Amino acid sequence: MADQTNPFESLHQQLDEAAAYLGVDADVIERLKHPQRVLETSLTIERDDGSLAVVRAFRAQFNGDRGPYKGGIRYHPGVSRDEVKALAGWMTYKCAVVDIPYGGAKGGVVIDPRAYSERELERLTRAFAVELRPFIGENRDIPAPDVNTGQREMNWIKDTYETLEHTTAPGVITGKAIDSGGSAGRVEATGRSVMLASRQVFDWLNRDLADATVAVQGYGNAGSTAARLIDEQGASVVAVSDSSGAIYTPDGLSTDAVAEHKRETGAVDGFGDTESLTNDELLTLDVDLLIPAALENAITEELAHEVAADVIVEAANGPTTPAADRVLAEKNVWVVPDILANAGGVTVSYFEWVQNRQRFSWTEQRVNEELGRVIVDAFEGLIESYESTEASTLRTAAYVVAIERVARAYTQSGTWP
Ligand code: NAD
Repeated sequence: MADQTNPFESLHQQLDEAAAYLGVDADVIERLKHPQRVLETSLTIERDDGSLAVVRAFRAQFNGDRGPYKGGIRYHPGVSRDEVKALAGWMTYKCAVVDIPYGGAKGGVVIDPRAYSERELERLTRAFAVELRPFIGENRDIPAPDVNTGQREMNWIKDTYETLEHTTAPGVITGKAIDSGGSAGRVEATGRSVMLASRQVFDWLNRDLADATVAVQGYGNAGSTAARLIDEQGASVVAVSDSSGAIYTPDGLSTDAVAEHKRETGAVDGFGDTESLTNDELLTLDVDLLIPAALENAITEELAHEVAADVIVEAANGPTTPAADRVLAEKNVWVVPDILANAGGVTVSYFEWVQNRQRFSWTEQRVNEELGRVIVDAFEGLIESYESTEASTLRTAAYVVAIERVARAYTQSGTWP
């Protein structure tokens, strides 16, 4: 059964844990726990058969103390107001921990996109963009892709916004296709930062990522790219999964061939000469590195007792519950937290936005080099925080860095009115 831990409560527990290591006033911490505003809307769209669908959608703007609100838009039947609020909070602390000048936001639409045609999804996305229009903008709030959204949806939102505003404003949204103002390296960016964070943590542990066995839960944008780039580092990806189930072979998978199989059949299941596993079996495999890259609450307290990996690098947002974190810490399983490990997506979104404002495109090499610098610096800052505070986990050490930065920006600006 799916874990029912409320992600917004998880966020509060994570902030409270870190606050204990900080001298930040309790009332400032209280401010940093809540979104500044949440848009909740019902979108009515015409389906291809002429009937109407009424769909709930949200946009949470969590904190803008360090810059414009920033965060993806998710299409999933499990989206809820609290999930969107939590994801917006995690965005705030993610941008702070990698030190890019953005606040945090998130959007979500409560649909299973597989039940809609492409034309219906376009109408729905444009209807959401109409509702978002007064809230977003190049200097205000900049959405991006997340689960079940990508370049196609970003292009629709950009076009709707620009048409209604009678302007060109490519920086209103990131994750666009290259010809619509997207950035080289953006599609790969989240997976790339997961690879970079994995390499950094293995180096720090005096181990070599090239010798590692790896399991990846979720073979979408983040998971499949992370798997491929880690494979390219010489590691052996022995198991991957998606919502259809998991596949395993001790000899290691060809990550490209699995991606091709998923493109053709819609699932990783049934690929080559592999053993089928359940998703829980994948999460408890005896591997060196486990990468959860699907959704929240994948690693629960109960499952954490069974985790056999040495290191977890979180590609998904919120895959480990706070209770699971405590179990993993007791078992000396190292967890590189989501807010750092998957920050490549928002970092290259930031580069895309900078390029849009400069009206000047960077090469893929430059994007990847700058991303490498951001993630390596952030990892070094995390370790410094971990060692100087003696925080209980790497996650708490990351929040210590992030909260300090957001709290400083807030207190420097002062309270008004
Ligand atoms: P996606 O839709 O491309 O892929 C999600 C994958 O997870 C799919 O393969 C799906 O089948 C699989 N999945 C869903 N439920 C599962 C389950 N119970 N067990 C196993 N697999 C399951 O989404 P994505 O963009 O790769 O996002 C995945 C995670 O990464 C999310 O938590 C998202 O918030 C996070 N993330 C994404 C980005 C980005 O740039 N795309 C950036 C930062 C964080």
